[in-house]
Amino acid sequence: MKGFRRTHLLLLHAPAWLLAATLALATAAFAAQTLAAQVAPPPTNSLPPNQSSLGDLTSLTGDAKVWLQDLIKINTTNPPGNEQAAAKYILAVLQKEGIGAEELPVTPGRTSVVARLRSSAVADPSRALILVAHMDVVGVERTRWTVDPFAASIKGGYLYGRGSIDNKAMLASNLATFIALKRANAHLNRDVIFLATDDEEQGGDASIKILIAKYWDKIAAGFALNEGGNVVLENGKVQYVAVQASEKVAVNVNVIARGTSGHASMPTKDNPVVHLSAAVAKIGGYVAPVHFTAIVRRYFEGLSAVEDDEIAKWMRSLETPDRGEHAQRVIADANPQWNSMLRDTISPTVLSAGVRPNVIPAEARATLNVRLLPGDTIDALVGELSKLVNDPTVRLEVQPDAGLAAPPSSLENDFYAAITKVAAQEFGGAPVLPYQSPWATDSAQLRLHNVQSYGLWPFPLTQDDLKRMHGDDERIPLASFAKGIDVESRIVAEFAVTKP
Ligand SMILES: [Zn+2]
Repeated sequence: MKGFRRTHLLLLHAPAWLLAATLALATAAFAAQTLAAQVAPPPTNSLPPNQSSLGDLTSLTGDAKVWLQDLIKINTTNPPGNEQAAAKYILAVLQKEGIGAEELPVTPGRTSVVARLRSSAVADPSRALILVAHMDVVGVERTRWTVDPFAASIKGGYLYGRGSIDNKAMLASNLATFIALKRANAHLNRDVIFLATDDEEQGGDASIKILIAKYWDKIAAGFALNEGGNVVLENGKVQYVAVQASEKVAVNVNVIARGTSGHASMPTKDNPVVHLSAAVAKIGGYVAPVHFTAIVRRYFEGLSAVEDDEIAKWMRSLETPDRGEHAQRVIADANPQWNSMLRDTISPTVLSAGVRPNVIPAEARATLNVRLLPGDTIDALVGELSKLVNDPTVRLEVQPDAGLAAPPSSLENDFYAAITKVAAQEFGGAPVLPYQSPWATDSAQLRLHNVQSYGLWPFPLTQDDLKRMHGDDERIPLASFAKGIDVESRIVAEFAVTKP
């Protein structure tokens, strides 16, 4: 009940708006506890509240919860994004703190926001740290949600809404960390830059790639903190922390079958629906060879320390000459994410053919979403798949919107060391592991510009909550949100603030 005593103390001096926010938090916490007593333990009950090195963040965390709710209510579903409304909101928050922030127009209706806390009169971009988060969100299937995805409602200690994790929680946490530095009047040893970006989910003409091309002088940095890694919570305890230092490369490939159109009453041998189906079935069964990268190697080594004995044994055998192949099969079958970390993967995602039930179409198409390991090439994979399909009526065509492969971030610099040190301290000595994500983030573009970029959602989340990202009923436990702000501000302070 420590939290409640602190709440009461705060109320004595708090302005009305903070009082309301604090009461809301306390009510939510109380509701969570009451519910927990009846049903199950609260999701993060083993995470004690903390004093940050930037002072007491209790009131800032309350502010950040309001920012997160407001940002969820600003619908930035991409397409079309319309991130300008969120940008204007963030601009106002920063200005209220006396921080000069700037809107960076990208395309009509889509702007980014940048702000900088200076360490000295002359900026040294190679030392600067940039906190990056995108403002757009993916769409929702409204009928599958049990709450309004844009109402930011709180139930049982959770804040619900599209973007409550990906990525408005990070956006609010970055904002809180940045403002904590300003409020504490921290003595910075490098510039810290805040950046809110557009169009991450689609990677189109308002994405960070365009932003970098147009405004590099305003955002140039040597180090970045972005989304992409996880604090993995299991049974109320942080199992491990995965810091994204590299990512796979997304490429879409069309599979096109062509034949003769005609009356469906007289079947033809070259019916493209049949040929496409056979091709997709063969591709669906293809298993690409395993390639180890240095990061994946270290990830499995570290993870074997916390996995159960059986899985740990196979993780340690992944590259042994006698048992390696079997171990790779066991690990790949145990977890689709592990499979994806070991090899190129292919997911057929879209099928299209036919206009009428009684007409054989001339063409049938499928889309394959390919995720390449860094270093692998799409041409080599498409060559393999064409051989496997072995059908002259079927053609594979690489779409031009492919992601770019970037070099991994180093695991040997002070920023990575700061992340590792603080995360281990804050999460009870849980292993902190480098991570190569199956998904793509804005970090690839940053790494291509020599930025040592790391991905970490600092919020402890269960697999169940992680699965809701891009899915239905996305939500964040308020306790995890608060903990994440605390952890992020400590990481940034460890790296960018000179100790007295
Ligand atoms: Zn995201």
